[in-house]
Amino acid sequence: MKYQRPKGTADILPAESAKWQYVEAKARELFKKYRYHEMRTPIFESFEVFSRTSGETSDIVTKEMYDFYDKGERHITLRPEGPELQKPVKTYYMGPMFRYERPQSGRLREFHQIGVEAFGVDSPALDVEVIAMAIDLLESFGLDSLKLALNTLGDNESRQAYRQALIDYLEPFADQLSDDSKERLHKNPLRVLDSKDKKDQEIVADAPSILDYLTPAATEHFETLKKLLDDLGIKYEVDPNMVRGLDYYNHTIFEIMSDSKAFGGKWTTVCAGGRYNGLVEQLGGPETPGIGFGLGVERLLLVLDATENGLQLEDPLDVYVVGIGQSVNAETLKLVQSLRHQGFSADRDYLDRKPKGQFKTASRLNAKYTLTLGETELAEQKANLKSMETGEEISVSLADIYANFAGLLA
Ligand code: ATP
Ligand code: MG
Repeated sequence: MKYQRPKGTADILPAESAKWQYVEAKARELFKKYRYHEMRTPIFESFEVFSRTSGETSDIVTKEMYDFYDKGERHITLRPEGPELQKPVKTYYMGPMFRYERPQSGRLREFHQIGVEAFGVDSPALDVEVIAMAIDLLESFGLDSLKLALNTLGDNESRQAYRQALIDYLEPFADQLSDDSKERLHKNPLRVLDSKDKKDQEIVADAPSILDYLTPAATEHFETLKKLLDDLGIKYEVDPNMVRGLDYYNHTIFEIMSDSKAFGGKWTTVCAGGRYNGLVEQLGGPETPGIGFGLGVERLLLVLDATENGLQLEDPLDVYVVGIGQSVNAETLKLVQSLRHQGFSADRDYLDRKPKGQFKTASRLNAKYTLTLGETELAEQKANLKSMETGEEISVSLADIYANFAGLLA
């Protein structure tokens, strides 16, 4: 019997991986300018690391975490998001995350995030930096039709007041709510705002707004944030019903959405983030403010592939060495190796194919030059150098190739 791949997983094959490398390289380049440094954390962690911070009523903890007991009976989970334990002040990560969800377009069980975290600063100026960086990143891929949705969850006091107001509003609708929402009504009513259930969404449409329950301090954080965004010319839409899937957020939350063809024109979140001043504390650390975002790489690639010309990446090949006959096998190998060591990309045929087939391959690979070598050439210690662009051919000595190939091209 053939094994079936686990649902919601995908291979990133050689033909696709260049796109991933492109996205990652762009992100690294940008993060460098913003002075964010990479952190690499384990892919599996203690279950409690996430159950305590992500919120016991969140979808992630109640339904989506991959967890198991290891041979020492320790409760382990595959990370569902980037864990924010580390000390550095400004940091980023990229890597696989795991969530047991219903797979569909842009939703997998193993997916990849590029994320950013900045710790230790309460100032809304840092919120703006992080948001600006997320937008810069998406724009660096040429995306233009983007929407920044913004909200605040206030501080603890604002949230407590709002929580009660929401419960008071939702209670009369209790029997009409979905089972999940019924359950959350008292445990975590904010979560009901995030329900994907149609009927829940109708009920929630007229719910009170967090913006009416903010303390003066929370209002000030939000107002300053908006002013600074205005100052930078960054457009946003305030969505008072937006909440984040995780419990530890406060103050600023945001989502960057795309209405790409890839999502059937429906506004879909590609990047989401916010401030989480309570997170480090929940893990037993000192109170440390933090802000960050996570960008879904699969979703980004769906958007890039759906742009007018798709994502066109070059895959340059400097030299294809055409070897004719078994007798030149060793010399051909020495030639590609020497070219690589001289800094060129080089490839050859390993299937003993006819010259015609090898030249076809060379042009399919967009080789800039071919070097052809048969029995006669080998005897004369020469090869035929051809520019694939101009068609020009010259005979060159093997010694010159080995000494300085670049010199032959000048
Ligand atoms: P959703 O409401 O779509 O489930 P979320 O709130 O669970 O999103 P976050 O935890 O904020 O998402 O993750 C940030 C980003 O990571 C998302 O905007 C999305 O681009 C991506 N992402 C999240 N879950 C998945 C998944 N299962 N497959 C692919 N990408 C995902
Ligand atoms: Mg989710």
